[in-house]
Amino acid sequence: MKVTVDLDQCEANGICVGIAPDVFELDDEDVLHIVEADVPADRLADVEDAVAQCPKAALKLQ
Ligand code: SF4
Repeated sequence: MKVTVDLDQCEANGICVGIAPDVFELDDEDVLHIVEADVPADRLADVEDAVAQCPKAALKLQ
């Protein structure tokens, strides 16, 4: 599974970072980066949670 972010939608509120800080990272300019685009099986549950909780629906898992 791969996770991607639509940066036009992301408002950098850090919710996904709070849920999975090893997968998502905000830089000094509040731009979201995906550290592990290929989601390891043991991180899938948290990434699914982050995708579901993003208030801007900016994350996609496919
Ligand atoms: S939860 Fe959504 S809006 Fe917030 S930083 Fe993550 S991708 Fe961006």
